[in-house]
Amino acid sequence: MRIGAVEAGGTKFVCGIGNEHGEIEKRISIPTGEPEETLAQVIAFFKEEDVEAIGIGTFGPINIDKQSEHYGYVTTTPKPGWSNYHFLGKMKQSFSIPFGWDTDVNAAALGEATWGAAKGLDSCVYYTIGTGVGVGIYAEGHLVHGLVHPEGGHVLTRRHPEDSFEGACPYHGDCLEGMAAGPALEKRWKVKGSELAADHPAWAIEAFYIGQAVASSILLLSPKKVILGGGVMHQKQLLPLIHAEVQKNLNGYVSAEAVLSKIDQYIVTPGLGDNAGLCGAVALGLRAMQA
Ligand code: ADP
Ligand code: ZN
Repeated sequence: MRIGAVEAGGTKFVCGIGNEHGEIEKRISIPTGEPEETLAQVIAFFKEEDVEAIGIGTFGPINIDKQSEHYGYVTTTPKPGWSNYHFLGKMKQSFSIPFGWDTDVNAAALGEATWGAAKGLDSCVYYTIGTGVGVGIYAEGHLVHGLVHPEGGHVLTRRHPEDSFEGACPYHGDCLEGMAAGPALEKRWKVKGSELAADHPAWAIEAFYIGQAVASSILLLSPKKVILGGGVMHQKQLLPLIHAEVQKNLNGYVSAEAVLSKIDQYIVTPGLGDNAGLCGAVALGLRAMQA
């Protein structure tokens, strides 16, 4: 089985071909430009391939309400040309096959639930902590869409007592993304996150914010696995700090072994590594075929 996959990001589009085992056979990367020129390259790639379905996991916000006349659109974004653009419609004009369509983080959550760290589980929460913060939610075997789609990157946070950074979110200032995404790290410390030493005080503050959001999602959704991906999570010292923050915040209240004594197996980095998004798009394509 050959399934097309698109991981559509703000800086690059990764297109690939995968199968029902989540194995990626081939991939290309296209810099994100204006929609027509970007999608012309995406379409040209798949025209050379024999695929049975295509799954798209994309940056947003997007419309994922199948009842809406704007289903398949990118809705509001500062990216030139993409606001109110019919992304899925453009793809469908070129291929008469089933299409899966969801947010990049929902795709990653589904990929992890199908082949990765949450394999065999019927729920997980997937965070990406990168240029922005995004949250994908898989609950009782379904991706959560709701009113628009979850926007867990913008939850409000309680401020760290030693942190006077005003926050970098244009909408909320000091929301989670405003305090903890890669650009926030860079703005607060005046160097790129990747250049901060492993023992820099930045990481305790970073874990403080992520730990709050993760504790809230555990209280709200009771996921069977929490997966933390994105460029910032390449900092290996961060994960144990987040474990400690989550336990501190929950303070024994959620009396599950996963939280109390096995948190290192409960809050983890992606089992699929940097392939979570692309594999997730394959999983979306597979689901579209079964629909
Ligand atoms: P995107 O979110 O654009 O899809 P990434 O998940 O790679 O891409 O996130 C990019 C962000 O992560 C940038 O802000 C970058 O500075 C930050 N970042 C990337 N690698 C590291 C690292 N090793 N340590 C800290 N921050 C990093
Ligand atoms: Zn925000």
